[in-house]
Amino acid sequence: METPVFGAADMGSVYQAYCDCGFRADVTVGGTRSSFLEQSSFPFYCRQCGLVSVNIAKLPRGQVVTTCPSCQSSECTQYGIPPVSVHDLRPVPWWKKLFKFSKSDAPATSAIQWGNREASDDGHICPGCREMRLRFSRFPSLMFD
Ligand SMILES: [Zn+2]
Ligand SMILES: [Zn+2]
Repeated sequence: METPVFGAADMGSVYQAYCDCGFRADVTVGGTRSSFLEQSSFPFYCRQCGLVSVNIAKLPRGQVVTTCPSCQSSECTQYGIPPVSVHDLRPVPWWKKLFKFSKSDAPATSAIQWGNREASDDGHICPGCREMRLRFSRFPSLMFD
């Protein structure tokens, strides 16, 4: 297990979420140098609101479902975690590695990451068309700190 290291490259970035259906959104990942322990963002999918930015600074490590910050629904799941994303980038437990039939063996690369949370560049549920076609741009369009 890797310990998150908050170096300069890990400061907050703004990415693009986009889909062939025309859906576009800016996605903020991470926080600022001075306040990331209080405020760090990561995209989540709420069944009511679609793509929402959740403050993960106080969310326990490993918790991937939380309360939606805008409608208070409890079905708000982090992007990068099935069923809202096709690819699960979480580390595979050692016992699963013994069985090679696991689908998660397919290599998927991480497009957005903050601490131990990450999501691949494609295969996410789109708030516009509700298909698994949402993508995150691989390169941050803007950095801030
Ligand atoms: Zn919501
Ligand atoms: Zn779409």
